[in-house]
Amino acid sequence: MTDIFYKALLSALTQLNIALPEGAPVKFAKYADFLIEYGKKVNLTAITDDSEIAVKHFADSLALLKYIDIKPASSVIDVGTGAGFPGVPLLIARPDLSLTLMDSTNKKLQFVKEACEKIELKPEIIHIRAEDAGKNPLFREKYDLVVSRAVADLRVLAEYCLPLTKVGGVFAPYKGDVNRELKEAQNAISTLSGKTQDLFEYELSGYMKRSIIVIRKISQTSPKYPRTSTQISKFPL
Ligand code: SAM
Repeated sequence: MTDIFYKALLSALTQLNIALPEGAPVKFAKYADFLIEYGKKVNLTAITDDSEIAVKHFADSLALLKYIDIKPASSVIDVGTGAGFPGVPLLIARPDLSLTLMDSTNKKLQFVKEACEKIELKPEIIHIRAEDAGKNPLFREKYDLVVSRAVADLRVLAEYCLPLTKVGGVFAPYKGDVNRELKEAQNAISTLSGKTQDLFEYELSGYMKRSIIVIRKISQTSPKYPRTSTQISKFPL
């Protein structure tokens, strides 16, 4: 990675007031290098410019650390991780976390697996649809924190993610300008036993308005949910 990458990353993180452990920026850069190299043969991300990767992928993923105090060794799952965002940057910054990366597309997970090996990270990587995982006792209500970025409209995403969230835990979707989605998702959130607690809005080095919603899981989700993929997309709650 070029100096532009480091400068853009450090400036965005300074704006967000986020400090990193020693060695983290070099790991980010190695991951980004491999993302660009691997992306030449497999479509991983539309963003390929050094400073945009630094800000839109890494700094954006790390913004959550400013707003949510994650307890040491918490179990965290990234639903629809794609090329590893936001999960991988969070694990580089917080290696104490027990992180699971989930996606329904195996070719992206293959990249994530190889890229994590290069920087000696050991997340759990699972190839499954979120709505299938939500019915499986291995994953259902097992995570202290469920994160997800750019995967689905909040009404749909809530049905993917709240069944995976432990009672007392948090589902924290990353969104853009979220007011409409959040209003429309209120029924889904309460039906799935969640409660919206906070909405944090931030700007990324003048690029765009971003937000992180904090949705607390207040009791067990009814076994009726998640429904099948078709029901979820045709009849969102
Ligand atoms: N989260 C990454 C990011 O922000 O760069 C990737 C976003 S990409 C636009 C959406 C990802 O969600 C894809 O990799 C897709 O395979 C995955 N996905 C969509 N629906 C899913 C589902 N129901 N269960 C698991 N993964 C899903």
